Amino acid sequence: MSVLSKFELSGKCAVVTGGNRGIGRATAQALAEAGAHVLVAARDAAFNRSTVADLEAQGLRAAAVEVDITAPEGVAAMVSAAREVLGGLDVLVNNAGVCFHRPSVEVPEDEWDSVFDLNVKAMFRCSVAALPLMRARGGGSIVNIGSISGHIVNRPQWQASYNASKAAVHQLTRSLAAEWAGDNIRVNAVAPGYIRTDMAPVDRPEFRRMWIDDAPQQRAGEPDEVATGVVFLASPAASFVTGSVLVMDGGYTVY
Ligand code: NDP
Repeated sequence: MSVLSKFELSGKCAVVTGGNRGIGRATAQALAEAGAHVLVAARDAAFNRSTVADLEAQGLRAAAVEVDITAPEGVAAMVSAAREVLGGLDVLVNNAGVCFHRPSVEVPEDEWDSVFDLNVKAMFRCSVAALPLMRARGGGSIVNIGSISGHIVNRPQWQASYNASKAAVHQLTRSLAAEWAGDNIRVNAVAPGYIRTDMAPVDRPEFRRMWIDDAPQQRAGEPDEVATGVVFLASPAASFVTGSVLVMDGGYTVY
């Protein structure tokens, strides 16, 4: 097998939660370019449609399912769509996430719950629901989108719930990697730094000093620069990689 062919995902079926915008959309694009048939699982029907149309216009194979993965029926519908539309599941990218900036003493009960419900619990539930489909294929690869916020505390904004949720994502990654290695299922995460998406207003002047100037590369990342790491971890190129958290942050966490 040549080195480049190890990155190929031809014939593979992949689901990307939150695959209709930002890092998830770039990941859907990258997985499809690598040869996978991709299912986007997110709530907004219009964003889902435009993502699928864009991928299909490039001759890539894509579909979407309109689901809220914080609801058990949303997770069930996602897995049904993987089975019925894709015909199985080899790669699950747990990407959907949410972040609120707020001092801890002001965090309302429902906001804390919404962060953990999506960033941690839905990730866990989607992974568990994907397990039978991956077992049926003889194995698979799960890639979780963690964050440098699982390693460091962001500044100047406060976001304790998000930071705690991403630390949980990294430890959940290692836990499932250990549990499912016997099923030939690898579980890894990427931990992006500041990436230009709706979630991270990287061009706002009040964030420049601490988000951008403080990092060795002194720039924000683009979603497609995270997607390459996801393709690596999803593919046979990472056959001996499981339980890892790949930091992709322009060097932010070296200091
Ligand atoms: P965006 O806000 O741009 O996109 C979030 C995506 O999640 C959307 O596609 C949204 O689609 C989907 N989503 C939200 N809630 C749900 C839900 N209940 N069910 C299904 N899908 C949902 O975020 P990013 O692209 O920036 O972030 C993607 C991931 O990367 C997140 O996990 C985030 O924490 C992580 N990350 C981002 C960084 C950054 O700097 N941008 C840095 C480090 C990590 P819809 O609304 O249609 O459901």
